[in-house]
Amino acid sequence: MGKLLIFSAPSGSGKSTIVNYLLGQNLNLRFSISATSREPRGSEKNGVEYYFLTPEEFRKRIANDEFLEYEEVYPGRFYGTLKSEVNRILDNGGNVIFDVDVVGGCNIKKYFGDKALSVFVEPPSVEELRYRLEKRGTDSPEVIASRVAKAEYELTFAPCFDVIIRNDDLNRAQAETLEVVTKFLDE
Ligand code: ADP
Ligand code: 5GP
Repeated sequence: MGKLLIFSAPSGSGKSTIVNYLLGQNLNLRFSISATSREPRGSEKNGVEYYFLTPEEFRKRIANDEFLEYEEVYPGRFYGTLKSEVNRILDNGGNVIFDVDVVGGCNIKKYFGDKALSVFVEPPSVEELRYRLEKRGTDSPEVIASRVAKAEYELTFAPCFDVIIRNDDLNRAQAETLEVVTKFLDE
């Protein structure tokens, strides 16, 4: 059976950047595409970054017990990992990489135990998070404010993770992540 890599962090920490970097390495990783009830952002496409569902479709799948886990990460915005997605990747012999919120990250780690490595990407400061989200330019001021407001709470989850990677200098953070991930996959 393949292994599982879980990445969580406050929004704007650089988690997606680091996950995309790992996907470009030769590690047999497949991204677990989550379902969400939020609208696509920028150039996002259904079935690539997310399966974009209406709130009604999302609720239907909850009722059908189709999620390994799901969370209302921001008010009215649901995100969840479909069991079918993880099984599809494992059945095809791949290692799974998750980009999920801090609560989902802790839950998936508990579920898979030693088969999973959970990584918390820590930003240098909450102010830097705000700056990165503004510079990324993909979210409205209200959405940025709600993400920054949640960051302090999310930072308290760091001790629940196997590894904490501080993303101040991106190149160093990527190199450090590649090292721990390679070691875990080789074990
Ligand atoms: P997340 O997935 O955690 O929300 P992203 O990977 O989208 O975060 O990164 C947020 C923004 O910050 C992006 O525009 C990204 O290019 C930028 N970024 C990522 N890492 C760094 C870093 N170490 N220093 C400065 N900017 C960064
Ligand atoms: P974004 O809207 O920036 O794409 O994601 C917002 C947050 O939702 C991020 O913290 C992301 O990791 C989280 N997220 C994405 N997919 C899932 C999922 O399937 N489950 C959980 N619990 N969180 C998710």
